[in-house]
Amino acid sequence: MEPSLNAQHIIMLPFMAQGHLIPFLELAYNILHHNQNITITIVNTPLNINYLRSAIANHAPPLSQLHLKPLHFNSSDHGLPPNSENTDSLPLTKNINLFAASYALEPPFRQFVSDVIAGDRCPPVIISDLFMASANEVAKDMGIRNYSFITSGAYGTTAYISIWLNLPHRNLVTGGTHDQFHVTGFPSTVQFEISDLHQILQAVDGKDELSRSFQTQLSLSFYSNGWLCNTVEEIETLGLEALRNYIKLPVWCVGPLMPVKILKRNVGSDMGSVIGQRAGKEPGIRPEKCIEWLDLHPEGSVLYISFGSQNTISETQMMELAKGLEESKKPFIWVIRPPIGFDLTCEFRTEWLPLGFEDRIGKQGLIVHNWAPQLEILCHRSTGAFLTHCGWNSVMESLSQGVPLIGWPLAAEQGYNAKMLVEEMGVCLVLARGMHSMIEKEEVRSVIEVVLDKSEDGKGESMRKKATELGEMIRASVEINKGSSYKAMDDFMSTILAQTIY
Ligand code: UDP
Repeated sequence: MEPSLNAQHIIMLPFMAQGHLIPFLELAYNILHHNQNITITIVNTPLNINYLRSAIANHAPPLSQLHLKPLHFNSSDHGLPPNSENTDSLPLTKNINLFAASYALEPPFRQFVSDVIAGDRCPPVIISDLFMASANEVAKDMGIRNYSFITSGAYGTTAYISIWLNLPHRNLVTGGTHDQFHVTGFPSTVQFEISDLHQILQAVDGKDELSRSFQTQLSLSFYSNGWLCNTVEEIETLGLEALRNYIKLPVWCVGPLMPVKILKRNVGSDMGSVIGQRAGKEPGIRPEKCIEWLDLHPEGSVLYISFGSQNTISETQMMELAKGLEESKKPFIWVIRPPIGFDLTCEFRTEWLPLGFEDRIGKQGLIVHNWAPQLEILCHRSTGAFLTHCGWNSVMESLSQGVPLIGWPLAAEQGYNAKMLVEEMGVCLVLARGMHSMIEKEEVRSVIEVVLDKSEDGKGESMRKKATELGEMIRASVEINKGSSYKAMDDFMSTILAQTIY
Protein backbone atom coordinates (compact mmCIF):
# COMPACT_ATOMS: atom_id res chain seq x y z
CA MET A 1 0.00 0.00 0.00
CA GLU A 2 1.23 3.53 -0.81
CA PRO A 3 1.77 6.00 2.06
CA SER A 4 -1.32 8.14 2.71
CA LEU A 5 -1.14 11.72 1.43
CA ASN A 6 -2.98 13.09 4.45
CA ALA A 7 -1.12 11.43 7.30
CA GLN A 8 2.02 12.98 8.79
CA HIS A 9 4.89 11.16 7.14
CA ILE A 10 7.96 10.23 9.18
CA ILE A 11 11.05 9.10 7.27
CA MET A 12 13.49 7.06 9.34
CA LEU A 13 17.16 6.53 8.50
CA PRO A 14 18.94 4.04 10.80
CA PHE A 15 22.64 3.19 10.74
CA MET A 16 23.47 -0.18 9.15
CA ALA A 17 23.85 -2.36 12.25
CA GLN A 18 21.51 -4.75 14.07
CA GLY A 19 21.82 -2.69 17.27
CA HIS A 20 20.40 0.29 15.33
CA LEU A 21 17.87 -1.40 13.01
CA ILE A 22 16.20 -3.26 15.88
CA PRO A 23 15.46 -0.18 18.05
CA PHE A 24 14.48 1.88 14.98
CA LEU A 25 11.89 -0.73 14.09
CA GLU A 26 10.66 -0.76 17.68
CA LEU A 27 10.50 3.05 17.60
CA ALA A 28 8.34 2.86 14.48
CA TYR A 29 6.00 0.34 16.18
CA ASN A 30 5.87 2.55 19.27
CA ILE A 31 5.00 5.68 17.27
CA LEU A 32 2.25 3.85 15.37
CA HIS A 33 0.92 2.51 18.64
CA HIS A 34 0.59 6.11 19.87
CA ASN A 35 -0.89 7.57 16.73
CA GLN A 36 -2.46 5.60 13.91
CA ASN A 37 -2.68 8.60 11.59
CA ILE A 38 1.04 8.58 10.88
CA THR A 39 2.81 7.05 7.93
CA ILE A 40 6.36 5.82 8.49
CA THR A 41 8.91 4.86 5.86
CA ILE A 42 12.17 3.30 6.99
CA VAL A 43 14.90 3.69 4.37
CA ASN A 44 18.17 1.79 4.19
CA THR A 45 20.34 -0.39 1.99
CA PRO A 46 18.59 -3.28 0.18
CA LEU A 47 19.86 -6.07 2.45
CA ASN A 48 18.94 -4.22 5.62
CA ILE A 49 15.52 -3.51 4.20
CA ASN A 50 15.20 -7.27 3.66
CA TYR A 51 15.98 -7.92 7.35
CA LEU A 52 13.30 -5.42 8.30
CA ARG A 53 10.83 -6.82 5.79
CA SER A 54 10.98 -10.30 7.30
CA ALA A 55 10.55 -8.86 10.80
CA ILE A 56 7.57 -6.74 9.79
CA ALA A 57 5.96 -9.65 7.95
CA ASN A 58 5.61 -11.39 11.34
CA HIS A 59 4.03 -8.42 13.06
CA ALA A 60 0.49 -9.06 14.23
CA PRO A 61 -1.71 -7.27 13.37
CA PRO A 62 -0.14 -6.21 10.04
CA LEU A 63 0.83 -2.54 9.95
CA SER A 64 -0.32 -0.91 6.74
CA GLN A 65 1.18 2.47 7.77
CA LEU A 66 4.74 1.13 7.92
CA HIS A 67 6.69 1.18 4.65
CA LEU A 68 10.21 0.24 3.64
CA LYS A 69 12.32 1.84 0.95
CA PRO A 70 15.61 0.35 -0.27
CA LEU A 71 18.22 2.90 -1.38
CA HIS A 72 20.83 2.04 -3.98
CA PHE A 73 24.04 0.78 -2.32
CA ASN A 74 26.85 -1.39 -3.61
CA SER A 75 29.33 -2.41 -0.93
CA SER A 76 32.03 -3.30 -3.48
CA ASP A 77 32.15 0.39 -4.50
CA HIS A 78 33.48 1.17 -1.02
CA GLY A 79 36.25 -1.38 -0.56
CA LEU A 80 33.90 -3.74 1.29
CA PRO A 81 33.28 -7.42 0.52
CA PRO A 82 30.25 -8.04 -1.73
CA ASN A 83 26.90 -7.86 0.10
CA SER A 84 28.39 -6.21 3.20
CA GLU A 85 25.70 -3.82 4.25
CA ASN A 86 25.68 -4.39 7.99
CA THR A 87 28.32 -4.41 10.73
CA ASP A 88 27.30 -7.96 11.65
CA SER A 89 29.28 -9.45 8.76
CA LEU A 90 32.36 -7.23 9.10
CA PRO A 91 35.36 -7.30 11.43
CA LEU A 92 35.62 -4.20 13.61
CA THR A 93 38.47 -2.85 11.49
CA LYS A 94 36.16 -2.78 8.45
CA ASN A 95 33.26 -1.16 10.32
CA ILE A 96 34.93 2.15 9.75
CA ASN A 97 34.70 1.56 5.97
CA LEU A 98 30.99 0.94 6.34
CA PHE A 99 30.73 4.11 8.36
CA ALA A 100 32.47 6.04 5.54
CA ALA A 101 30.35 4.24 2.93
CA SER A 102 27.17 5.38 4.67
CA TYR A 103 27.73 8.82 3.08
CA ALA A 104 26.89 7.18 -0.26
CA LEU A 105 23.29 6.91 0.92
CA GLU A 106 22.94 10.67 1.08
CA PRO A 107 22.12 11.33 -2.64
CA PRO A 108 19.41 8.63 -2.95
CA PHE A 109 18.09 9.65 0.48
CA ARG A 110 17.90 13.30 -0.64
CA GLN A 111 16.05 12.21 -3.77
CA PHE A 112 13.58 10.12 -1.79
CA VAL A 113 12.84 12.97 0.64
CA SER A 114 12.37 15.35 -2.26
CA ASP A 115 9.90 12.91 -3.92
CA VAL A 116 7.95 12.63 -0.66
CA ILE A 117 7.80 16.43 -0.33
CA ALA A 118 6.51 16.70 -3.88
CA GLY A 119 3.79 14.10 -3.32
CA ASP A 120 2.57 14.71 0.25
CA ARG A 121 0.16 17.34 1.52
CA CYS A 122 2.23 18.05 4.64
CA PRO A 123 6.00 18.25 4.98
CA PRO A 124 7.60 15.05 6.24
CA VAL A 125 9.70 14.80 9.39
CA ILE A 126 13.00 12.92 9.42
CA ILE A 127 14.19 10.78 12.31
CA SER A 128 17.80 9.89 11.65
CA ASP A 129 20.47 7.95 13.45
CA LEU A 130 23.16 9.88 15.29
CA PHE A 131 25.59 8.22 12.86
CA MET A 132 23.61 9.18 9.75
CA ALA A 133 23.83 12.86 10.48
CA SER A 134 24.01 13.92 6.82
CA ALA A 135 20.20 13.60 7.07
CA ASN A 136 20.43 16.86 9.04
CA GLU A 137 21.85 18.60 6.00
CA VAL A 138 19.12 17.17 3.80
CA ALA A 139 16.45 18.38 6.27
CA LYS A 140 18.04 21.83 6.52
CA ASP A 141 18.29 22.21 2.72
CA MET A 142 14.66 21.19 2.28
CA GLY A 143 13.30 23.25 5.16
CA ILE A 144 11.89 20.29 7.08
CA ARG A 145 12.48 19.06 10.61
CA ASN A 146 14.95 16.41 11.66
CA TYR A 147 15.16 14.60 14.97
CA SER A 148 18.13 12.45 15.93
CA PHE A 149 17.44 9.07 17.46
CA ILE A 150 20.11 7.83 19.84
CA THR A 151 20.08 4.06 20.07
CA SER A 152 22.44 4.22 23.08
CA GLY A 153 21.96 5.48 26.62
CA ALA A 154 22.36 9.10 27.67
CA TYR A 155 25.48 8.66 29.84
CA GLY A 156 27.45 6.63 27.31
CA THR A 157 26.42 8.78 24.36
CA THR A 158 27.31 12.04 26.10
CA ALA A 159 30.70 10.74 27.13
CA TYR A 160 31.40 9.31 23.68
CA ILE A 161 30.40 12.44 21.78
CA SER A 162 31.95 14.84 24.21
CA ILE A 163 35.29 13.03 24.28
CA TRP A 164 35.49 12.84 20.47
CA LEU A 165 34.66 16.50 20.10
CA ASN A 166 36.86 17.82 22.91
CA LEU A 167 39.58 15.16 23.44
CA PRO A 168 40.00 16.37 27.06
CA HIS A 169 42.54 13.67 27.95
CA ARG A 170 45.00 15.18 25.46
CA ASN A 171 45.62 17.97 28.00
CA LEU A 172 46.92 15.58 30.65
CA VAL A 173 50.60 16.00 31.37
CA THR A 174 51.62 12.74 33.03
CA GLY A 175 50.04 10.17 30.69
CA GLY A 176 49.33 7.52 33.38
CA THR A 177 46.41 5.12 32.94
CA HIS A 178 44.69 6.41 36.11
CA ASP A 179 44.94 10.07 35.15
CA GLN A 180 41.59 11.69 35.69
CA PHE A 181 39.92 14.25 33.51
CA HIS A 182 36.62 16.01 33.27
CA VAL A 183 34.21 15.45 30.38
CA THR A 184 32.12 18.39 29.20
CA GLY A 185 28.46 17.98 30.10
CA PHE A 186 29.10 15.98 33.28
CA PRO A 187 29.10 17.53 36.77
CA SER A 188 32.61 18.18 38.13
CA THR A 189 32.18 15.33 40.64
CA VAL A 190 32.27 12.76 37.80
CA GLN A 191 35.79 12.00 36.66
CA PHE A 192 36.88 9.83 33.75
CA GLU A 193 40.17 7.94 33.48
CA ILE A 194 42.28 7.09 30.46
CA SER A 195 41.50 3.43 31.07
CA ASP A 196 37.78 4.22 30.59
CA LEU A 197 38.48 5.25 27.00
CA HIS A 198 38.19 3.02 24.02
CA GLN A 199 41.63 2.12 22.61
CA ILE A 200 41.03 4.17 19.46
CA LEU A 201 40.23 7.23 21.52
CA GLN A 202 43.40 6.79 23.56
CA ALA A 203 45.42 7.08 20.36
CA VAL A 204 43.80 9.74 18.16
CA ASP A 205 44.91 13.37 18.17
CA GLY A 206 41.85 15.00 16.59
CA LYS A 207 43.57 15.76 13.30
CA ASP A 208 43.49 12.24 11.86
CA GLU A 209 40.90 11.07 9.34
CA LEU A 210 38.92 9.02 11.85
CA SER A 211 38.52 11.91 14.31
CA ARG A 212 37.55 14.33 11.59
CA SER A 213 34.93 11.94 10.24
CA PHE A 214 33.42 11.29 13.70
CA GLN A 215 33.62 14.93 14.66
CA THR A 216 31.74 16.00 11.52
CA GLN A 217 28.98 13.41 12.02
CA LEU A 218 28.55 14.12 15.71
CA SER A 219 28.57 17.91 15.30
CA LEU A 220 25.92 17.73 12.57
CA SER A 221 23.51 16.02 14.93
CA PHE A 222 23.54 19.17 17.10
CA TYR A 223 21.50 20.84 14.35
CA SER A 224 18.55 18.51 14.96
CA ASN A 225 15.29 19.83 16.34
CA GLY A 226 15.69 17.45 19.26
CA TRP A 227 16.87 13.99 20.26
CA LEU A 228 14.96 10.84 21.00
CA CYS A 229 16.78 8.52 23.36
CA ASN A 230 16.31 4.79 23.93
CA THR A 231 16.44 5.18 27.70
CA VAL A 232 14.20 5.82 30.68
CA GLU A 233 14.20 9.15 32.48
CA GLU A 234 14.28 7.61 35.99
CA ILE A 235 17.19 5.22 35.47
CA GLU A 236 19.68 7.65 33.94
CA THR A 237 19.25 10.91 35.83
CA LEU A 238 22.95 11.76 35.79
CA GLY A 239 23.45 10.78 32.14
CA LEU A 240 20.44 12.80 31.06
CA GLU A 241 21.57 15.84 33.02
CA ALA A 242 24.93 15.55 31.24
CA LEU A 243 23.32 15.08 27.84
CA ARG A 244 20.94 18.03 28.21
CA ASN A 245 23.78 20.20 29.54
CA TYR A 246 25.86 19.32 26.56
CA ILE A 247 23.58 19.37 23.55
CA LYS A 248 21.12 22.00 24.74
CA LEU A 249 18.28 20.48 22.69
CA PRO A 250 15.00 18.89 23.77
CA VAL A 251 15.51 15.23 24.70
CA TRP A 252 12.65 12.72 24.81
CA CYS A 253 13.36 9.47 26.64
CA VAL A 254 11.14 6.92 24.93
CA GLY A 255 12.85 3.68 25.93
CA PRO A 256 12.94 0.84 26.43
CA LEU A 257 12.32 0.13 22.75
CA MET A 258 11.60 -3.57 22.81
CA PRO A 259 8.54 -5.76 22.37
CA VAL A 260 5.92 -5.10 25.04
CA LYS A 261 5.83 -8.83 25.72
CA ILE A 262 9.36 -8.85 27.12
CA LEU A 263 8.41 -6.17 29.59
CA LYS A 264 6.50 -8.75 31.57
CA ARG A 265 9.11 -10.75 33.49
CA ASN A 266 8.43 -14.27 32.40
CA VAL A 267 8.37 -17.49 34.32
CA GLY A 268 9.33 -20.12 31.80
CA SER A 269 8.06 -22.06 28.86
CA ASP A 270 4.74 -20.21 28.57
CA MET A 271 6.72 -17.31 27.12
CA GLY A 272 6.11 -18.07 23.46
CA SER A 273 8.39 -16.52 20.90
CA VAL A 274 8.98 -12.78 20.54
CA ILE A 275 11.74 -13.27 18.01
CA GLY A 276 9.42 -13.22 15.01
CA GLN A 277 8.75 -9.52 15.38
CA ARG A 278 12.37 -8.45 15.50
CA ALA A 279 14.80 -7.43 12.85
CA GLY A 280 17.86 -9.63 12.92
CA LYS A 281 19.19 -12.96 11.91
CA GLU A 282 17.91 -16.49 12.13
CA PRO A 283 18.94 -17.77 15.55
CA GLY A 284 21.46 -20.65 15.68
CA ILE A 285 18.96 -22.49 17.88
CA ARG A 286 15.17 -22.64 18.00
CA PRO A 287 13.88 -20.35 20.78
CA GLU A 288 11.72 -23.21 22.12
CA LYS A 289 14.83 -25.38 22.54
CA CYS A 290 16.57 -22.66 24.54
CA ILE A 291 13.54 -22.26 26.75
CA GLU A 292 13.29 -26.02 27.31
CA TRP A 293 16.94 -26.04 28.35
CA LEU A 294 16.45 -23.08 30.66
CA ASP A 295 13.37 -24.72 32.20
CA LEU A 296 15.66 -27.48 33.50
CA HIS A 297 17.64 -25.07 35.67
CA PRO A 298 16.80 -23.39 38.99
CA GLU A 299 15.71 -19.76 39.12
CA GLY A 300 18.50 -17.21 38.67
CA SER A 301 21.18 -19.88 38.16
CA VAL A 302 22.18 -19.50 34.49
CA LEU A 303 24.82 -17.17 33.06
CA TYR A 304 24.07 -15.89 29.55
CA ILE A 305 27.09 -14.81 27.48
CA SER A 306 26.95 -12.74 24.30
CA PHE A 307 29.08 -10.00 22.78
CA GLY A 308 26.31 -8.59 20.60
CA SER A 309 25.81 -8.50 16.86
CA GLN A 310 29.11 -7.10 15.65
CA ASN A 311 31.92 -7.75 18.10
CA THR A 312 33.94 -10.76 18.98
CA ILE A 313 36.89 -11.65 21.22
CA SER A 314 40.30 -13.20 20.54
CA GLU A 315 40.97 -16.92 20.44
CA THR A 316 43.10 -16.72 23.59
CA GLN A 317 40.36 -14.88 25.45
CA MET A 318 37.83 -17.45 24.24
CA MET A 319 39.97 -20.28 25.62
CA GLU A 320 40.29 -18.69 29.06
CA LEU A 321 36.60 -17.84 29.15
CA ALA A 322 35.76 -21.46 28.35
CA LYS A 323 38.11 -22.78 31.06
CA GLY A 324 36.72 -20.34 33.64
CA LEU A 325 33.15 -21.33 32.78
CA GLU A 326 33.95 -25.00 33.12
CA GLU A 327 35.68 -24.50 36.47
CA SER A 328 32.81 -22.38 37.81
CA LYS A 329 30.47 -25.37 37.30
CA LYS A 330 27.62 -22.88 36.81
CA PRO A 331 25.12 -23.45 33.99
CA PHE A 332 25.60 -21.16 31.01
CA ILE A 333 24.37 -20.29 27.51
CA TRP A 334 27.19 -18.96 25.36
CA VAL A 335 26.64 -17.39 21.94
CA ILE A 336 29.84 -18.10 20.05
CA ARG A 337 30.88 -16.05 17.04
CA PRO A 338 34.17 -16.66 15.19
CA PRO A 339 37.08 -15.11 17.11
CA ILE A 340 39.14 -12.20 15.79
CA GLY A 341 40.98 -13.03 12.59
CA PHE A 342 38.31 -15.44 11.28
CA ASP A 343 35.72 -14.63 8.66
CA LEU A 344 32.64 -13.77 10.73
CA THR A 345 30.45 -15.85 8.47
CA CYS A 346 32.55 -19.02 8.81
CA GLU A 347 31.32 -22.22 10.45
CA PHE A 348 31.97 -22.95 14.12
CA ARG A 349 35.29 -24.77 14.79
CA THR A 350 35.88 -26.93 17.83
CA GLU A 351 39.54 -25.81 18.02
CA TRP A 352 38.37 -22.41 19.29
CA LEU A 353 37.53 -24.16 22.55
CA PRO A 354 39.70 -26.33 24.86
CA LEU A 355 40.06 -29.95 23.73
CA GLY A 356 37.02 -32.01 24.76
CA PHE A 357 35.25 -28.93 26.20
CA GLU A 358 31.84 -29.64 24.71
CA ASP A 359 31.85 -33.27 25.89
CA ARG A 360 32.98 -32.37 29.39
CA ILE A 361 30.45 -29.59 29.99
CA GLY A 362 27.53 -31.86 29.04
CA LYS A 363 24.35 -30.38 30.51
CA GLN A 364 26.24 -27.54 32.22
CA GLY A 365 26.35 -25.44 29.08
CA LEU A 366 24.44 -24.69 25.93
CA ILE A 367 26.52 -23.38 23.06
CA VAL A 368 24.69 -21.37 20.45
CA HIS A 369 26.34 -20.53 17.16
CA ASN A 370 26.30 -16.91 16.01
CA TRP A 371 22.87 -15.66 16.99
CA ALA A 372 20.69 -16.48 19.98
CA PRO A 373 17.10 -15.61 20.83
CA GLN A 374 18.41 -13.11 23.37
CA LEU A 375 15.13 -11.67 24.53
CA GLU A 376 13.69 -15.09 25.27
CA ILE A 377 16.80 -16.02 27.23
CA LEU A 378 16.94 -12.81 29.26
CA CYS A 379 13.32 -12.91 30.27
CA HIS A 380 13.45 -16.50 31.43
CA ARG A 381 13.42 -16.87 35.21
CA SER A 382 16.44 -19.20 35.18
CA THR A 383 18.73 -16.51 33.76
CA GLY A 384 20.66 -15.03 36.68
CA ALA A 385 23.37 -12.90 35.04
CA PHE A 386 24.52 -11.65 31.65
CA LEU A 387 28.16 -11.50 30.58
CA THR A 388 27.92 -8.77 27.98
CA HIS A 389 29.92 -6.33 25.88
CA CYS A 390 27.60 -3.65 27.34
CA GLY A 391 26.00 -2.69 24.02
CA TRP A 392 23.09 -0.48 24.99
CA ASN A 393 20.29 -2.71 23.69
CA SER A 394 21.72 -5.63 25.63
CA VAL A 395 21.98 -3.47 28.75
CA MET A 396 18.36 -2.32 28.50
CA GLU A 397 17.13 -5.82 27.73
CA SER A 398 18.96 -7.20 30.76
CA LEU A 399 17.95 -4.44 33.18
CA SER A 400 14.33 -4.61 32.07
CA GLN A 401 14.39 -8.17 33.41
CA GLY A 402 16.28 -7.30 36.59
CA VAL A 403 19.28 -9.35 35.44
CA PRO A 404 22.69 -8.10 36.75
CA LEU A 405 25.65 -7.88 34.41
CA ILE A 406 29.25 -8.89 34.04
CA GLY A 407 30.84 -6.30 31.78
CA TRP A 408 33.36 -6.87 29.02
CA PRO A 409 33.13 -3.68 26.95
CA LEU A 410 34.67 -3.99 23.50
CA ALA A 411 33.96 -0.97 21.29
CA ALA A 412 32.12 2.33 20.75
CA GLU A 413 30.59 3.80 23.92
CA GLN A 414 30.43 0.43 25.70
CA GLY A 415 33.22 1.31 28.18
CA TYR A 416 31.19 4.31 29.38
CA ASN A 417 28.04 2.21 29.64
CA ALA A 418 30.04 -0.16 31.85
CA LYS A 419 31.32 2.75 33.96
CA MET A 420 27.77 3.91 34.57
CA LEU A 421 26.50 0.39 35.31
CA VAL A 422 29.22 -0.02 37.94
CA GLU A 423 29.47 3.45 39.47
CA GLU A 424 25.96 4.84 39.16
CA MET A 425 23.78 1.75 39.18
CA GLY A 426 25.78 -0.86 41.10
CA VAL A 427 24.54 -3.67 38.85
CA CYS A 428 27.73 -4.71 37.08
CA LEU A 429 31.23 -6.03 37.69
CA VAL A 430 33.76 -5.51 34.91
CA LEU A 431 35.67 -8.68 34.01
CA ALA A 432 37.74 -7.41 31.07
CA ARG A 433 38.01 -4.67 28.48
CA GLY A 434 38.73 -4.91 24.79
CA MET A 435 39.61 -7.66 22.37
CA HIS A 436 43.25 -8.01 23.32
CA SER A 437 43.36 -7.72 27.12
CA MET A 438 44.70 -10.67 29.07
CA ILE A 439 42.13 -12.58 31.06
CA GLU A 440 42.70 -15.65 33.14
CA LYS A 441 40.31 -18.46 33.88
CA GLU A 442 40.56 -17.77 37.64
CA GLU A 443 39.21 -14.24 37.14
CA VAL A 444 36.38 -15.60 35.03
CA ARG A 445 35.46 -18.20 37.62
CA SER A 446 35.69 -15.75 40.49
CA VAL A 447 33.52 -13.04 38.93
CA ILE A 448 30.85 -15.60 37.97
CA GLU A 449 30.83 -16.95 41.51
CA VAL A 450 30.39 -13.47 42.96
CA VAL A 451 27.55 -12.43 40.67
CA LEU A 452 25.60 -15.69 40.83
CA ASP A 453 26.22 -16.13 44.56
CA LYS A 454 22.91 -16.34 46.44
CA SER A 455 24.09 -15.43 49.97
CA GLU A 456 22.00 -12.66 51.46
CA ASP A 457 24.74 -10.20 52.29
CA GLY A 458 26.88 -10.88 49.22
CA LYS A 459 27.73 -8.57 46.34
CA GLY A 460 25.61 -10.71 43.97
CA GLU A 461 22.51 -10.15 46.09
CA SER A 462 23.04 -6.39 46.20
CA MET A 463 23.50 -6.30 42.41
CA ARG A 464 20.35 -8.35 41.93
CA LYS A 465 18.33 -6.06 44.21
CA LYS A 466 19.45 -2.98 42.34
CA ALA A 467 18.82 -4.60 38.96
CA THR A 468 15.34 -5.60 40.14
CA GLU A 469 14.60 -2.00 41.20
CA LEU A 470 15.77 -0.70 37.82
CA GLY A 471 13.68 -3.35 36.06
CA GLU A 472 10.61 -2.12 37.93
CA MET A 473 11.33 1.48 36.92
CA ILE A 474 11.81 0.45 33.29
CA ARG A 475 8.58 -1.48 33.19
CA ALA A 476 6.68 1.32 34.95
CA SER A 477 7.92 3.82 32.34
CA VAL A 478 5.82 2.26 29.59
CA GLU A 479 2.55 2.18 31.53
CA ILE A 480 -0.19 3.65 29.37
CA ASN A 481 -0.93 7.30 30.25
CA LYS A 482 1.20 7.09 33.40
CA GLY A 483 4.77 6.04 32.65
CA SER A 484 7.46 8.62 31.84
CA SER A 485 8.41 7.05 28.48
CA TYR A 486 4.78 6.74 27.46
CA LYS A 487 4.22 10.42 28.28
CA ALA A 488 7.46 11.44 26.52
CA MET A 489 6.28 9.70 23.36
CA ASP A 490 2.92 11.48 23.61
CA ASP A 491 4.72 14.78 24.02
CA PHE A 492 7.01 14.06 21.07
CA MET A 493 4.03 13.20 18.87
CA SER A 494 2.22 16.39 19.92
CA THR A 495 5.34 18.41 19.09
CA ILE A 496 5.61 16.88 15.64
CA LEU A 497 1.93 17.29 14.85
CA ALA A 498 1.59 20.80 16.33
CA GLN A 499 4.39 22.14 14.18
CA THR A 500 3.15 20.63 10.94
CA ILE A 501 2.33 23.31 8.40
CA TYR A 502 -0.49 22.30 6.07
N1 UDP B 1 21.01 -9.95 19.62
C1 UDP B 1 20.27 -11.12 19.56
N2 UDP B 1 20.95 -12.29 19.51
C2 UDP B 1 22.31 -12.37 19.52
C3 UDP B 1 23.06 -11.18 19.59
C4 UDP B 1 22.37 -9.99 19.66
O1 UDP B 1 19.03 -11.09 19.55
O2 UDP B 1 22.84 -13.48 19.48
C5 UDP B 1 20.29 -8.67 19.66
C6 UDP B 1 20.21 -8.15 21.08
O3 UDP B 1 19.05 -8.65 21.72
C7 UDP B 1 20.21 -6.65 20.87
C8 UDP B 1 21.02 -6.45 19.61
O4 UDP B 1 21.03 -7.69 18.94
O5 UDP B 1 18.89 -6.20 20.66
C9 UDP B 1 22.46 -6.05 19.90
O6 UDP B 1 22.49 -4.72 20.24
P1 UDP B 1 23.53 -4.14 21.30
O7 UDP B 1 23.27 -2.68 21.38
O8 UDP B 1 23.44 -4.87 22.57
O9 UDP B 1 24.95 -4.46 20.71
P2 UDP B 1 25.60 -4.27 19.25
O10 UDP B 1 25.31 -5.50 18.51
O11 UDP B 1 24.98 -3.04 18.63
O12 UDP B 1 27.06 -4.10 19.54
